[in-house]
Amino acid sequence: MKHVQNSSPRPDLVWLATNSCSAHIISFANSCRPGLREVLQREFNFIYESFIMAAEGEAAARLWYSPAVERGGFILVVEGTVPTAFGGRTAFLGQLNGRNITALEMVERLGARAAHVVAAGTCASFGGPFAASPNPTASRPLSKILKRPVIKVPGCPTNPGWLLETLELIRRGKDLQLDAMGRPRHIYGTTIHSLCQRLPLYEAGCFAKQPGDPGCMYLLGCKGPATRADCPERRWIEERSGWPVGVNTPCIGCTAPEFPDGMAPFFHHATDVYTPAGRINLKSAGSGAARFTAAAMAAHLFGQVISGRIKPLRFMAKCNLALPGIRRRRKKK
Ligand code: SF4
Repeated sequence: MKHVQNSSPRPDLVWLATNSCSAHIISFANSCRPGLREVLQREFNFIYESFIMAAEGEAAARLWYSPAVERGGFILVVEGTVPTAFGGRTAFLGQLNGRNITALEMVERLGARAAHVVAAGTCASFGGPFAASPNPTASRPLSKILKRPVIKVPGCPTNPGWLLETLELIRRGKDLQLDAMGRPRHIYGTTIHSLCQRLPLYEAGCFAKQPGDPGCMYLLGCKGPATRADCPERRWIEERSGWPVGVNTPCIGCTAPEFPDGMAPFFHHATDVYTPAGRINLKSAGSGAARFTAAAMAAHLFGQVISGRIKPLRFMAKCNLALPGIRRRRKKK
């Protein structure tokens, strides 16, 4: 990964919010170490970010044509998808000299000049909720718009630590190892499940029956086994506030490329389609992505059983999945 073509210790940064709920800049602004003030004063020179900058209207839009942008070499961060239907005229970012400027036009313009393009969040990375079915605006992730590498930092929203760490590595010209999908490996290299504090409960077959129970949330629909991120270790808001499973709600797979369509329904046990008892029912699994997710989770569980980490009979008994014969034997006792 090359250093940004900017000799300043505070490289220029342009942040565009396209089809987005603004969750990522809000998340970013809640960064604690370093805090937003330090990021703005010492680390990056924000040329444009509509939430935190003072300029508005045409004065703000003119920044897209400023010398710093024309020079190139800045870091472009985009949150949100880019709508392409109707020539992109379903998402306007601003107006200049009476002309409406679409997200599509500005992403293409800035994307061609930037030294690095970073997709902040799952929408910009993979499509996410703003490209969910039926997607009437034909919204696309950045990599489907720009013919250049995009560094993806998915999450709904993305953790401020993930984004800051990625930007920091770019700023310092450090080696940023990306996986095949363009995500930083050190963040998305492993599944949430494998880092989860409740993994021992999963392995012991202790499962929560309702949110709030202390057991593993696998049977409540937890998508941790099919989702890659370091949430259980990094957590949120200065590592105090925890993360979904830590605060008693299942992981819904928000960093995954299939999110949200392929991860729904969020709070139902997807592996009803594939259990150690061998039951397969894909009818209700929905899209191909959902089937993939269910299969990935089932394969994981199957592997755990095969490797002996989970005792099949114990697991099935705990999950009430035991074969009728086993149940009968138990009743006779
Ligand atoms: S299934 Fe969910 S709650 Fe259970 S161990 Fe895995 S990530 Fe944690």
